[in-house]
Amino acid sequence: MQILYKRGLVMHELSYILDIINSVQEVKEKENLLEIKKIIVDVGQMSGVVPFYLHKYYDEAIKGTFLEHTELITNEVEVKILCESCGKEYTPDKENRYRCPACGERKGKLIQGKGIIIKEIVVEDDDNMHE
Ligand SMILES: [Zn+2]
Repeated sequence: MQILYKRGLVMHELSYILDIINSVQEVKEKENLLEIKKIIVDVGQMSGVVPFYLHKYYDEAIKGTFLEHTELITNEVEVKILCESCGKEYTPDKENRYRCPACGERKGKLIQGKGIIIKEIVVEDDDNMHE
C-alpha cells in the first residue's frame, strides 16, 4: 500500500472552505442557480480535514455573502484502495494488516478518501411544496 500523506501540504480547513465557496459561486453563475439551500461535501478520511472545523469556518465565512443562511453538510468518506496485484477494492485496516484481504499484496492505489469533493448543491427545498 502506498499512501502519500504530506502532512505539511494538507490545506487548512479555512482554505478548503474558501475553495468550496469559490466553486459554488462559479457553479451558481454558470447554472443560474437562484437560491442555494445546502452544500453537501464529501470529506475523505485521508484528507486530514476535521469536519468540525469545516462547519465552524463555514458559518463564519458565509456571513454577509450569497451563502448566508445556507447549510453545510459533510459526509465522511472512507479510504478505498485498489489492489495493484488482483484489482480488488478494499478499505485498509488493522484486521487485514493494511494489505489486500484477497491476495495479501501491499501495493495499491488510493482511489477514494483523499480530498474534499463538493457532492451536491441543493437549490430548492421541496419539502414544503406539497403542503
Ligand atoms: Zn489483491
